[in-house]
Amino acid sequence: MSSPNLLGLPPSELTELLAQWGERPFRAKQISRWVHQRGVGAFDQMTDLAKASRRDLAERLSIETPPILRDTTAADGTRKWLFDVGGGDAVEAVFIPERSRGTLCISSQAGCAVDCRFCSTGKQGFSRNLDAAEIVAQLWVALRELDGFRAPGMPEQRAISNVVFMGMGEPLQNYAQTLRALTLLLDDDAYGLSRRRVTVSTSGVVPMMDRLARDCPVALAVSLHAPTDALRDELVPLNKKYPLRELMAACRRYLEHAPRDFITFEYVMIRGVNDSPAHARELVRLVADVPCKFNLIPFNPFPGSGLERSTPEQLLRFSQVLASSGIVTTVRRTRGDDIDAACGQLAGEVQDRTRLAERRARVVMMREES
Ligand code: SAH
Ligand code: SF4
Repeated sequence: MSSPNLLGLPPSELTELLAQWGERPFRAKQISRWVHQRGVGAFDQMTDLAKASRRDLAERLSIETPPILRDTTAADGTRKWLFDVGGGDAVEAVFIPERSRGTLCISSQAGCAVDCRFCSTGKQGFSRNLDAAEIVAQLWVALRELDGFRAPGMPEQRAISNVVFMGMGEPLQNYAQTLRALTLLLDDDAYGLSRRRVTVSTSGVVPMMDRLARDCPVALAVSLHAPTDALRDELVPLNKKYPLRELMAACRRYLEHAPRDFITFEYVMIRGVNDSPAHARELVRLVADVPCKFNLIPFNPFPGSGLERSTPEQLLRFSQVLASSGIVTTVRRTRGDDIDAACGQLAGEVQDRTRLAERRARVVMMREES
């Protein structure tokens, strides 16, 4: 069996392991800080540990990241890393620099089983869950690449202030590993991010929203995309399992624990599909008793999607309906277009274990035959 990877080991578990090996508990703190706060990737650099200790640890633990396959920077400074997670699968992480913050968008799965109509990750089907080390490694590598780790004795100065689970995959369908990763992101001896600066984005896995509220209530974004069940069933197939009424109730329950007093609703604006003023008015009614903000995302096209982005005029009219009813509404600026780093363009390269493409082709063939 391979040795436990420190990148996915919450400090409490590390403490337990060390205790089993007869090391003292405060060692866990020292090791965590070396790895997660200073970006050290080799035990022999942990200079406040005895040499013999360093050797023992190196035999029992590892610090491993998936290799970088590609590293691309867009004209606007957005940077994208493609990681090889083995078995022919690759996942992406995207860094978005802004004046007052730096956001890293990370992936939780290779592919995604939810299969939203407008999402290129979904179109590839599902391959596998990432483990906590593979999730955290995206942050660790990005910090190293951006020179964002703390130098010893230097005041905290972070290139990455926010982390969002908005890359590939549905984090709440990989709950256990997402939770372990979150624990590390928040732990003061690891990345020490505040719960408000870490956002989990979900297509609406209702039971897991309740568990997240209990286990680790970070900021929550819910991908809504439609004001009615009929339309949402089409766009986000998971809606058939957890329809809007249940989803809205889950949002209200989440807010009792959330670090912010609103839910962010994400809404991809697709021309002629979900972007009319009537849709906006229905939305206002739908979310009437959920304190929320809206983030409108102009649809990012990808080959074969068969969908188009809403026009700027549609977007404006839609946002005006929401705003005039008192809902804070922002339009997401499209970043990293030229390197396919925008929302929903994160295709990576996934071996489709669900054989989605094949099943789809079969359906089309059946239609043509009938
Ligand atoms: N699975 C989670 C998180 C990853 S998707 C979720 O669905 O919330 C992150 C965001 O990108 C979601 O709001 C998703 O709806 C959006 N998105 C997906 N495909 C898109 C596309 N083609 N254009 C714009 N946004 C897209
Ligand atoms: Fe999965 Fe999110 Fe894409 Fe839907 S939008 S297919 S839930 S990654």
